[in-house]
Amino acid sequence: MKIYVSGLYAGGNPQPGVGIVRSLRQGFPKATLVGVEYSNRVSGIHFDELDALWIERPWGELDLDAYGEKVRGALDGGGFWISGSDLEAMWLASIFPDGHPNLLAPPMAGIKRITKPVVEAASDLPVRIPTYLSTEHSDWDLHAFCREHNWRVWLKGPYYDASRTPTWDAFTAVRNALSKVWSTEKLFLQAHVSGYEESVMLSAYQGELLGAVSMRKRDITPEGKTWAGDVSEVPPSFLEPLRRMVRDTNWTGGGELEMVRDAANQLWLIEMNPRFPAWVHGATIAGQNLPALLVQAASGVSAQPAPAHSAEFTRVVLEVPVRPDYPLPPLPEPFAGAVGHSMKHPSGLTALAARLHEIDPDMLDVALDPAGSAAPSAAAVLPDSFVADIAAQDFDAMQTPQYIYMDTTAAGLFEQAAARAHRLSTNDVEVISGYSIKTNPDKRLIKLALDHGFYAEAISLGEVQTALEVGFRPDQVILNGPGKWWPQGLMPRERMHAVFCDSIADLDRVVAAVEAGEMSAKHIGIRIRTPNIVSRFGIPLDSPTTFGKLVAAVKRLPANSAFGVHFHMASSHVGVAQWWHLFESMLKWCRSIQTLTGRTIEMLDMGGGWYPDDWHADETAKIAKAVELVRAMLPAVRQIASEPGKAMAQPSMALAMRILEIQEHEEGHVEAVVDASIAEIPMHFWQPHRMVRQCGETGALQPIGRGKTHLMGRLCMEHDIIASNVQLPEGTRAGDLLIFCDAGGYDRSMSYVFGRG
Ligand SMILES: *Cc1c(COP(=O)(O)O)cnc(C)c1O
Repeated sequence: MKIYVSGLYAGGNPQPGVGIVRSLRQGFPKATLVGVEYSNRVSGIHFDELDALWIERPWGELDLDAYGEKVRGALDGGGFWISGSDLEAMWLASIFPDGHPNLLAPPMAGIKRITKPVVEAASDLPVRIPTYLSTEHSDWDLHAFCREHNWRVWLKGPYYDASRTPTWDAFTAVRNALSKVWSTEKLFLQAHVSGYEESVMLSAYQGELLGAVSMRKRDITPEGKTWAGDVSEVPPSFLEPLRRMVRDTNWTGGGELEMVRDAANQLWLIEMNPRFPAWVHGATIAGQNLPALLVQAASGVSAQPAPAHSAEFTRVVLEVPVRPDYPLPPLPEPFAGAVGHSMKHPSGLTALAARLHEIDPDMLDVALDPAGSAAPSAAAVLPDSFVADIAAQDFDAMQTPQYIYMDTTAAGLFEQAAARAHRLSTNDVEVISGYSIKTNPDKRLIKLALDHGFYAEAISLGEVQTALEVGFRPDQVILNGPGKWWPQGLMPRERMHAVFCDSIADLDRVVAAVEAGEMSAKHIGIRIRTPNIVSRFGIPLDSPTTFGKLVAAVKRLPANSAFGVHFHMASSHVGVAQWWHLFESMLKWCRSIQTLTGRTIEMLDMGGGWYPDDWHADETAKIAKAVELVRAMLPAVRQIASEPGKAMAQPSMALAMRILEIQEHEEGHVEAVVDASIAEIPMHFWQPHRMVRQCGETGALQPIGRGKTHLMGRLCMEHDIIASNVQLPEGTRAGDLLIFCDAGGYDRSMSYVFGRG
C-alpha cells in the first residue's frame, strides 16, 4: 500500500502532513508513505517516518497540466493521496471534479459549499456565523461596521490569512496587502467572538462519516494555533447533523470545523477546512485514528486498532537529522511587507491562488451578500444636502486646496440635534448639548450652536473668549480639561454654567479660586477617568486608594454650587456597544460617589467623541433609554449634557482640490498627484472621507469608487498619500476637481500650514 501525503510544513503554524504520516504509520505499519512537497525549505520532508519523497517545483513554476497527469498516474497505479493543504485540495478538485476512488480529498461541489464566511454546508449544525461585511462595500460602511463591533474585527482573505484590524489605518494597510496578494477585492470584515476555541475533526469516504472527534485548545502559540488540547467525543446533537452534512456534500477525506464557544455556551463557526487539522495525531494518541479510518474505508484493508494513551496531548519541538539528498538551503530572503502566514509559505501558495483564479475565476466566488440584495457599491452615496451645498460653490474662482463650508448641511445638523434634545427633555430632567469648540472653532458653527440652544463647551479660556465674542453668555459656558486656566487672566468673573475638574490639583485650584471670588459656576464637578479603558484625563477611581482621594476631594467642593460628574470616552474609538457598556458602569460609579461623599449629582455630562452617523442615526431610542436609566439610578440629576464635536462639525466642511498630474503604471495601477496633502486632510489615517469628482464638462458630481489608484499629496513626503485603492471616474484629467467630504472636524482644525512657500 502506497499513500501520498502533502502539506509537510512544520513551523509554528504547521500543516497536518507530519501528523497524518504518524497516524498512518500507527494504523498501517507496513505501508509506503510518500511525502509530497513543493519546496525543499519545508522541514517536514526530513521526518524519518517518510519512506520516500516527491518534491516538485514551487507552485508558481509548476507545469500544472503535466503535474496533474502525474498525480492521475499515481492514483490510477493504486496509490492513495491525502492532501494537507487547502489550496492543493482545491486544485486537485479542479482536476478531479467528481473525485477519484483513491483521491482522499473532497470533490469540487463539496469545497464550494464550505467557503468562508458563510460555510453554507454547515447550516444544519448547531453553530452560528459571526457577523461579517464584504469589503466590496464602501469605506464609509466598513468604518461603521468597525465602530459597531468596537473595532474588535478581523479582516480575512478568501483562502487564508486573517488579521485583527483595531484601527482604520491598520485596516487600509492590511486590505491593500491582502487584495494585492490574493488578487481580489473580495475580502471580508468579521466581528471577533470572545470565547474558547474548539474544533471538530472529521473523516469521511464518499459521503459516509467514518469518525469525528472534538478538541478544545488548551494551549496556543502566539499566532493562536493549537499547542496542546484535549480530545473528546462529538455529542450526538452535533454528530447527527454532521453526518447529514457529509452525506449532502458527498465528502471524502479529512475536514475540520474551527469554532469559538462564547460565554453563553453558543458555538460560532469561524471556518471549515477541507483537510485534516495539524493536531490530527493528537486525536490518534487519544485512540481516534481518523486518517487510518479513511485509508481503511478506501482500501478495504483493516487498520491496526488505535490504543488510547491519553485524552490530552501537547506538542514538543524535536531536532531531526537532515536528509543527505536534501541539504539545507541558504537562509531565505526576508519577505518585506508580508501579512499573514501563507505569504511567507515557501511553496508559493499565493502563486497557486493566482493560478486557481485563472483556471476557474468562480472557483470560490461566493456572493458575500445575502441572495437578492443589491450588488454592493464601493462608492458612498452623498446625502442630498452635501450635493446641494457643493452645487452652491463657485469653483471656477476658487484657489485649491480650499475648505468649503456646507451651509445647509451644518444648519440641518444643529436643527436636528436641538429638536432631539427638546424631545428628550422632560419637566424634571433637561437634556442639553454643548458644542465642543476645540473640534472646529469656526465662528459660523459656534453661532449655529448659539442659535440652536446649545451651550459652549470650552477647554481653554481662549475658547471661552471666542464663545463670548460670538454671543454666548458666561452662564452658557461649560469649562473642561486640564488646560482650563490658559491663557492666564482670561477667567470670566461671571457665573458660568459648569466647570469640571480634570485632576485633584485642578480641583484644589478651582476651590481656591472660588473662595477668592475669582470664579464661579452653577455646577462644579469632576471628570472621572474611565476605568479599564486607558485615558490620561479625569480623576482616577479604579483602586481603593485613588477612590479614597477622589471622595475626599469632592467633599472639599464649594457647597453653594451644584455637583456634577463628567466622563468622556470617544465611542468612535472604543466602539458604540462598548460605549454604552461604559455608560452603565459610569452610573454605578456615580452612585457610589454620591453615597460616599454625601453630595448629590445634579448634572451628568457624558462628553463627546461620537462619530456623526452614530450620533445622528436613530439613537433617539437609546438615548431615551439612557435618560430613563439616569432617572432611576441618580434621581437627583436635573440636567444631562453631551458635548458633540465632530458629530456636528465633521460633515460641515469639505475639501476641494485639483488633480495636478496622472501617472499610469503597470497592471492598471495609477498615481494621481493632487494639490491637497495630509496637511489639509490629516484625519485620512483615522476615518474615511466620501469623495467625488466634479465632471469637467457637465459639472455633475461623480462618486469615486474603489480601484487601483492612489491619490498622492503635493508634498514631497513619502507618507503624503491621501487616498489609497480608489478609482477615478472615466475621463478624469489633470485640472479636474475632486471633493473630499467629511473634512469639517479635526481635518479642518488640525490642518497645518506646510509646503505652501
Ligand atoms: C474634544 C472634546 C469633546 C468633543 O469630542 P468630539 O470627538 O469632537 O466629539 C467633548 N468634550 C471634551 C471635554 C473634549 O475635550
